[in-house]
Amino acid sequence: MDMIFDRKLPIPMETKEMYPLSPALAEVVARRAGELRRILDGRSDKLLLIIGPCSADREDSILDYIGRLRRVQEQVEDRIFIIPRIYTNKPRTSGDGYMGMLHQPDPDEKPDLFKGIAAIRELHMRVLRETGFSCADEMLYPENFKYLDDLLAYVTVGARSVEDQQHRLTASGVGIPVGMKNPTGGSIDVLLNAITSAQHPHSFIYRGWQAHSLGNPYAHAILRGYVDKHGRSVPNYHYENLMQLSEAYTRRELQNPAVIVDTNHANSGKQYLQQIRIAREVMLNRRWSGEIRRLVKGLMVESYLEDGAQPIGGGCYGQSITDPCLGWEKTERLILELAEQA
Ligand code: PEP
Ligand code: MN
Repeated sequence: MDMIFDRKLPIPMETKEMYPLSPALAEVVARRAGELRRILDGRSDKLLLIIGPCSADREDSILDYIGRLRRVQEQVEDRIFIIPRIYTNKPRTSGDGYMGMLHQPDPDEKPDLFKGIAAIRELHMRVLRETGFSCADEMLYPENFKYLDDLLAYVTVGARSVEDQQHRLTASGVGIPVGMKNPTGGSIDVLLNAITSAQHPHSFIYRGWQAHSLGNPYAHAILRGYVDKHGRSVPNYHYENLMQLSEAYTRRELQNPAVIVDTNHANSGKQYLQQIRIAREVMLNRRWSGEIRRLVKGLMVESYLEDGAQPIGGGCYGQSITDPCLGWEKTERLILELAEQA
């Protein structure tokens, strides 16, 4: 086999024994999980804001960023529920580039997955302990979900994974809400198939076990724009897109219909400043239509300490090394503005 097996890694149970979650912090996670369910099933009309860097590249700047989010969260808690993004593993469109903290706990060094597993659990745990936020991550590798399952508030299935069987089956068995992105080609049918699959029970093989899932009633849609056959980004957050998705949702008879609009990626064409305009437009459409207001529960925004992005090793503290992000001052202003409109 053309593959070298370096070392056996600890399984999730062993990692959790090394880095256990205290009962007090488990209580914080449970309380936030309850609040999130209330938003997704319509009992609460707070705006859900999933916000943070494209990738969690280093612990100090992530803690700094999320500490600032905590102070803003307190100002807007009547209207907005914030879930910070801590994305510890990154899908790559053509294979190259930073793969996330799981692979490279130090972005400037060679991959070290042994250290990476500890680093991502420690980061999610430290943020929870120091800021009181349980966070969002991407479920890029379904078999790794259990390294973090007791710490997370929310997971996404990314645009490149949403058509994959193992992602859908695993999504049906995770005990937290899963946001499923539309695929990079934009098919709403594929997206709704993924949500349908995730909402149903399944039997399948998971980490060497015969496993049964119960179905996830909180699996829902994230619109992130798409790329057409000419390679151009096409947005899908406009009024018409939301109305069409609402109708398509109704035909499927899914539980807890919900949509999050991702303001970056192919919706902004990665013109990160456009996120402000896109967020405003979505809020306007929520005010215009009761149907859109009921369906669109929130926004996903890519934001960090500094505007834009830099190459790996660029050395600028708090600036993204993957997708370009909105910097802190603009982020803070946007959140306060959204609270007025929510
Ligand atoms: C992301 O959220 O950073 C991301 C990789 O999203 P997508 O799967 O939509 O490309
Ligand atoms: Mn991104």
